[in-house]
Amino acid sequence: MSGINGILMNTELYKYILETSVFPREAEPLRELRNATADHPRSAMTTAPDGGQLMALLLKLINAKRTIEIGVFTGYSLLLTALSLPDDGKITAIDMDRQAYEIGLPMIRKAGVEHKIEFVESPALPVLQKLLEEPGNEGCFDFAYVDADKVNYISYHESLLKLVRVGGVIVYDNTLWGGTVAVDDESLVAEDFRAIRLQTIEFNKFIAADARVQIAHVSAGDGVIICLRIA
Ligand code: SAM
Ligand code: CA
Repeated sequence: MSGINGILMNTELYKYILETSVFPREAEPLRELRNATADHPRSAMTTAPDGGQLMALLLKLINAKRTIEIGVFTGYSLLLTALSLPDDGKITAIDMDRQAYEIGLPMIRKAGVEHKIEFVESPALPVLQKLLEEPGNEGCFDFAYVDADKVNYISYHESLLKLVRVGGVIVYDNTLWGGTVAVDDESLVAEDFRAIRLQTIEFNKFIAADARVQIAHVSAGDGVIICLRIA
């Protein structure tokens, strides 16, 4: 959910960031996947390229090798993760919509990174639960990216805090929800944004009070909260 202006609400400035710092460094397969998604009726769901660039940097900074992604859609964030991991890296990528994943799959294959991906077609919560029940998975993941149903973000957080190691990173997308989190008068917010606006406000408060993570709330893309697990 990030419009043409990004969260900056300033077309020129957002365009400047994308054209100066993001697009010139965007890997060719990622650009292709973004273009292949452009005509999709839900193309606005694609991770914003500036948010993606930040995520790729985080993955490299922590030398991530094992990651979880919740919310794949056509695979922009998945492909950028796969491109950022070493050759023996592994991503558990969860989404109920295999059809959307298959739109980006040719670009993932062309980039030679499909072997790093285990796509799980399922709602995410039971998959996380199953991972936790299997021996050896606790504290085994370096990184997680959450970009799916906002109503479950707090539940995802609880499971991910067990799966991601201390020193690992969890990134949550759309935490500013088009800027609506800061609008006091709900009647000014489009009706179909209202429920997620409230869920996002609740999640942001919850995370701000969670001593198990150190956080940064960054106004890239549609807003991202970066959590470093410290306990
Ligand atoms: N990260 C993706 C990208 O870069 O293109 C965008 C993800 S899109 C915003 C959200 C995705 O979450 C959709 O593909 C949807 O099918 C998936 N989703 C929604 N609820 C889910 C759930 N409970 N479990 C797993 N996936 C879910
Ligand atoms: Ca998103």
